[in-house]
Amino acid sequence: MSDILTITSEHVSGILTQDAAPAAYCGDGDTVIFETRDCYDDAVVSEERPLGDKADPIENPATGPLYVEGAEPGDVLKVEILDIRLRDWGVMRSSTKCGVFHEDFTERTARIFSIRGGAAQYIQFDGKLAIPLDPMIGVIGTAPAGEGITTDTPHSHGGNMDCHKIVKGSTLYLPVNTPGGLLSMGDLHALMGDGEVFICGLEIAGLVTVRVSVVKGDAAAMLPTPFLSCRGRVMTIQSAETLDAAGDIAAKAMKNFVKKAAGKDNFEAGMLMSLLSDMAVCQVVDPLKTVRVEFPLDVLETYGYRLP
Ligand code: CA
Ligand code: CA
Repeated sequence: MSDILTITSEHVSGILTQDAAPAAYCGDGDTVIFETRDCYDDAVVSEERPLGDKADPIENPATGPLYVEGAEPGDVLKVEILDIRLRDWGVMRSSTKCGVFHEDFTERTARIFSIRGGAAQYIQFDGKLAIPLDPMIGVIGTAPAGEGITTDTPHSHGGNMDCHKIVKGSTLYLPVNTPGGLLSMGDLHALMGDGEVFICGLEIAGLVTVRVSVVKGDAAAMLPTPFLSCRGRVMTIQSAETLDAAGDIAAKAMKNFVKKAAGKDNFEAGMLMSLLSDMAVCQVVDPLKTVRVEFPLDVLETYGYRLP
């Protein structure tokens, strides 16, 4: 066993809520490992039994919650994704009700893929095609303000954002709505494209190592959470009933952030957004749809901005 604080996959829930009892406590700046189940509650273990082996599986079980000492409402929880280690197999399953192509199916079918390779992992999709992996976290969030939110739904607390930029080496900033923040995560995907159109990624259990720290004051207040730094880009990840609405929220949130971070007025910030920001679809298959708007971090650093 690692002597790093580990929250095992015994501690899962299908809802992120302020009412949840913490599974563990840690200090500001501590490193913690989350052991996660796959989105089918680890119940689909065989292609012959696509409905799975559990009578009442939790949909999208999230491991946690983690109470971070010193995190108070109004702060931001900084979550550095230090590592994502995958189980040695992943699973995908068709749906008759959800996803863009659900009308193609009258019954559910599962496919299990072995994870191959060493440092460069891949799956063998069929006899011809090997596909390299890019592991990501589908569900990650703090306890929302107000009522709890089930782990099938993304919102301002994070949750089921299915953003494939939440990878090893990225840093996610989430709002703190309740003392301790109550961080949970699950629904790892070994690989997923923007949109998640089929309804699933390559669903997989695993171990996520994160460092959590508390950001306070103006540095926290200006971040349009959920906010991500990944591979030289910063992005805000926003969800709404339609892609149009989510895109509008995300673009405006990023523009306001660029204004503050670069010290620009609406006109110059608007021009910079049109020239340099990219709008992308995270997913179109969850109860709310998710869009991210990305902006190059080095441009903000040109104006003296530094990420907290
Ligand atoms: Ca998901
Ligand atoms: Ca998933």
